[in-house]
Amino acid sequence: MTDPRRRVPRTDTLLADPRLAAAEQVLGRALVRSVIAEAQQKARAGEIPPEQVADAAVAALPTGATSLRPVINATGVVVHTNLGRAPLSRAAIDAVVTASGATDVEFDLETGRRARRGRGALAALARAVPTAGGVHVVNNNAAALLLAAMTLAPGKEMIVSRGELIEIGDGFRLPALMESTGSRIREVGTTNRTHLRDYADAVGPDTGFVLKVHPSNYSVSGFTSSVPVRELAALDAPLVVDIGSGLLTPHPLLPDEPDATTMLRDGADLVTASGDKLLGGPQAGLLFGTEDLIERLRRHPAARALRVDKLTLAALEATLTGPPPPVAQALSVDVESLRVRAGRLASLLPDAKAVDCTAAVGGGGAPDVELPSAAVSLPEAYAAPLRVGNPSVVGRLENGRCLLDLRTVAPEDDGKLVEAVRACSS
Ligand SMILES: *Cc1c(COP(=O)(O)O)cnc(C)c1O
Repeated sequence: MTDPRRRVPRTDTLLADPRLAAAEQVLGRALVRSVIAEAQQKARAGEIPPEQVADAAVAALPTGATSLRPVINATGVVVHTNLGRAPLSRAAIDAVVTASGATDVEFDLETGRRARRGRGALAALARAVPTAGGVHVVNNNAAALLLAAMTLAPGKEMIVSRGELIEIGDGFRLPALMESTGSRIREVGTTNRTHLRDYADAVGPDTGFVLKVHPSNYSVSGFTSSVPVRELAALDAPLVVDIGSGLLTPHPLLPDEPDATTMLRDGADLVTASGDKLLGGPQAGLLFGTEDLIERLRRHPAARALRVDKLTLAALEATLTGPPPPVAQALSVDVESLRVRAGRLASLLPDAKAVDCTAAVGGGGAPDVELPSAAVSLPEAYAAPLRVGNPSVVGRLENGRCLLDLRTVAPEDDGKLVEAVRACSS
């Protein structure tokens, strides 16, 4: 008898398999070769018979030429930073696909001349925030703050309350970020209380601007006091407000989250925000302000290094003009419909029961807001296989159970969720 290892098909033979040849057209040769090599290795190790190498390779092919895997976010955290923050709406995804080839992002098709880059997205932003004299878009909110510091406070001070010197995540601290431009932070007040006179005493010839930062990911409670934007606006210095979450107008469910329209009406000269938190769009930094200030930001030499890509502009415009994106839907869906879905899904699955639970807004803001929700509750042992399944499902561990919180799962993904759980229980 020949050694079965000698019967493992050669790479050339496998690459000629029509299924693997088709995959090579989509995924590229290197990726298909690495999948083939793994299948051959399994056969050499005796884990599969040599005749099954081609099938094993086909089964192991990734769905696309990216190592990023699609995930069903069943964590109940609406804006989950580690899962890429806001999922795009169908309209935004279609817009990205439309813009992905050659496109008129910076070209006027009527005249055949250069045109304002991303004018459709900018016009949509301006319509959404009528109190803004001008709008601008950069890579993210951190970039928006950098641009503000570089434009308004070169060699000068930025006055910030000690209660607002925040760390945004992954070890990045806002004060260090802004001081990397060469501007200096001038801290005023104390951690829990800062008064108008603290700011007023600090304003002087060295002042670039006063910065107010919204505490998106924490709250200070007890004996506290901070100065509202309306009062800060009366100081003799430009006022920049970082609202973080990206609400453009007030949200009825999130009364403590500031919004761009109101902040400008209250007297802010410049408002900065993220595009991929509560707005529910692509990663972007949104800037709203007076017309001349926005023009100065746009003209700063570093603005070019912070600009966004055509795909971002396309997704942003579609998020603003299209139907409510998934983040908005997850926030507004009523708990009764979630309970109905949880009951139905649990009835289709072994080991599952429907439970009430509490979801959260997450990295996007509103740290104190609890969102009533419903989940499919499974034994904890499901968590790991669900994560590495296809599609991957990430739930939340709570009291020794794996909860699949439906507030963050689009109803159209319920079928996939059932299949993913069944694949783990068989
Ligand atoms: C999230 C956040 C940031 C950082 O925004 P990115 O878009 O991630 O750069 C800055 N400030 C506040 C208040 C935030 O909430």
